[in-house]
Amino acid sequence: MAYYQESKKFSLARMAWAYPLSLLIIFGIADLYAYVTLENPASFFNFLIAGLYMLIIAVVGTLAIEGAKIRHYNLRVFSMTLFAVIGLVCAWIFFLALIFEVPFFTVLTDFSFYFERLTGGFTRNGGIPYFSWLSEAALIVGFPIYFVASARKGDKPYCEVCDKWMENSESKLLKLPQVFTLSELEDKIEMDGIRSFLNYDRAHKKDPNHYEFIFLWCSSCRGNVYLSVKRHYTDNSKTIDKNESEDIMNFYELEPDFSWEELFEGSNDSEDRFNFSESTNTESNDLENFDPNEFDELEEI
Ligand SMILES: [Zn+2]
Repeated sequence: MAYYQESKKFSLARMAWAYPLSLLIIFGIADLYAYVTLENPASFFNFLIAGLYMLIIAVVGTLAIEGAKIRHYNLRVFSMTLFAVIGLVCAWIFFLALIFEVPFFTVLTDFSFYFERLTGGFTRNGGIPYFSWLSEAALIVGFPIYFVASARKGDKPYCEVCDKWMENSESKLLKLPQVFTLSELEDKIEMDGIRSFLNYDRAHKKDPNHYEFIFLWCSSCRGNVYLSVKRHYTDNSKTIDKNESEDIMNFYELEPDFSWEELFEGSNDSEDRFNFSESTNTESNDLENFDPNEFDELEEI
């Protein structure tokens, strides 16, 4: 039995354009963010604007990380930290540049403004601005890092053969006769095959107790089918929101003993995601073909 393992590789060639591009976008949005929070007459609501800003950083950062094909958990977290910190510092510098009506790079080269803002604010206003800047920093930097760090290791498996993220998935909601632990699931898959599960009755999304079997695979080579399993159950000890779910299995490598038609039986929303007939191999690799191979994939040091 095996689980998906990240290869810890990344595409340096793609990083070389995806990262500067994302930083440029963050730089532009930081300017806008500084302007809006400064001019906003209802400054109490600035935290909402900060919330929007951190979401944009998280989304732009995620796009850059996926674009650079980073199959390395620590490198993803490090990258997002970098994007968020640069986003925050840029926003602060833009803020000062707007207040003092000097260009961004003047403030950047004269950091005394920056420290003045931090320390002077503390003595003049009893630390309130200091507190609000720290909350702003925690919010803007914390969320994007949480966003990428909480994604399970290799949230999306990567097909090393076809050099692309595995985008295809199909989920089956099943009524199982008993509660399965991880090792019981593994044992049953080893002994009876995954097909033995597909033979159980289908559950409905609203059924209080059911299992969700999520199959993931590469649409180009159809190799490496992975299975993730979630248990959905009702927690009666809670008064509200009793519906709970827990991840039981993450990216278990399957030996498919079912036909693809069987897997899709009874699905009505899978057609658009399921077009095996045309190989997408060429389409996915268009950019890579221009990259010199020796630079394309580097082991992280
Ligand atoms: Zn593949």
